[in-house]
Amino acid sequence: MDNQVATAIEKAGVVGAGGGGFPTHVKARADVDVLLANGAECEPLIRSDTELLVSRPDRVVRGLELLAESVGASRVVLAVKRKNRRAGEAIERVLPADSAIELKLLENVYPAGDEFLLVFDVTGRVVPEGGIPLDVGVVVNNVTTLAQIADAVEGRPVTSRMVTVQGEVAAAATLTVPIGTPIGEIIDRAGGVTVDDAAVIVGGPMMGTIASSHAVPLTKTVGGLIVLPPDHTMVTARTESRAQMLRIARAACCQCLACTELCPRALLGHDLKPHRTVRAVQYDTLPEDHEHVTSAFLCCECGMCELFACPLGIRPRRILADLKAELTRRGVVNPHRRADLKPDDVREYRQIPSARLVQRLGLSEYDGPAPLDERRLEPARVFLRTTQHIGAAARPVVAEGDRVLEGDVVGEIPDGKLGARVHASIAGTIESITAEEIVIAA
Ligand code: SF4
Ligand code: SF4
Repeated sequence: MDNQVATAIEKAGVVGAGGGGFPTHVKARADVDVLLANGAECEPLIRSDTELLVSRPDRVVRGLELLAESVGASRVVLAVKRKNRRAGEAIERVLPADSAIELKLLENVYPAGDEFLLVFDVTGRVVPEGGIPLDVGVVVNNVTTLAQIADAVEGRPVTSRMVTVQGEVAAAATLTVPIGTPIGEIIDRAGGVTVDDAAVIVGGPMMGTIASSHAVPLTKTVGGLIVLPPDHTMVTARTESRAQMLRIARAACCQCLACTELCPRALLGHDLKPHRTVRAVQYDTLPEDHEHVTSAFLCCECGMCELFACPLGIRPRRILADLKAELTRRGVVNPHRRADLKPDDVREYRQIPSARLVQRLGLSEYDGPAPLDERRLEPARVFLRTTQHIGAAARPVVAEGDRVLEGDVVGEIPDGKLGARVHASIAGTIESITAEEIVIAA
């Protein structure tokens, strides 16, 4: 029988809004016993999920109910951090007294919202190496995705999302923005940049990337823009050249193990030891199937090792991410598949309080509120990427010169492929089309 919720989700172009971008209709067709709503929002400074939970809790709960029905879950849990009292209270207000949805309060640690950690903290199950939560009977969805599911079932596709703008801006805020809006226009709505030559981190300070320009468009997976001075360590940590990064790693790593001791995936029992991989790159001769090299596949790029743990400014995360990309390019498949895993007994004591992390990152001065600004942003043009998700690029189904309304399909999932639809986020005329981008002028 057709799963109507999953079909509506597929038609609406819903993907993992927390950063993953996995097409949600695939998860909605799964058969699991536990469904988790991830409202942890553990990246420092970002408030978009929290503002969503406070302003639209009914939509999140509705999306959760619909998805629970779709996947047949017998246990449904909505997880938020204990410190986000506003979000927890908003949810409690809309949950019926007889609701089967459990509210789970998480501690304010990083990275509480990592899917694998969330699954373990709520169910006690450990996702296997190289696996996904589905392997242990769990589906996890971000709360923004859940609100989009509620909209999808009522026929409204993904055309906008909430984004927090924090850092060196005149008025930090959380805004509802059409997908495809250039980030410069979003930053201007937050009062504009307050320092010269500012850099913008797209996403959170731990896992985000530096924008190449203010013309970069918003995608479905981005919940935050962090504006920082060009010499801030969160910027230089990302702009340091690869050669420089490797030189420091080879010269300075003292094998103190701090990166491995604080690695959340290692603490969960995965065979990931970033200190070994850093040592491995000191020898150019290690074969590509050596476990110290291939264990890069197990890294979730949370940044804990390089932005918090390492006392010497070495970048294990970048080293592992580069290795992972190179191995994938060469066609190497992740050989790490252990499933019988036992989390480290000390894991509980090695979780890092978010406040300490923010302080270490040099972001304390920016760690204030980013209140919801409901004014609609109306960009003159939107730049819709055909790949805003995991899978194949959307296939353009419009022609230059076509008139479109907000919500019209402009990119379709290629036949038989994993992917997600793309919709017009504003009304206007299709100005240009490439394999990467569809531009609409209002
Ligand atoms: S924390 Fe830094 S110095 Fe210590 S082992 Fe890891 S990379 Fe080397
Ligand atoms: S980024 Fe570092 S701390 Fe995070 S999972 Fe990868 S190796 Fe572990």
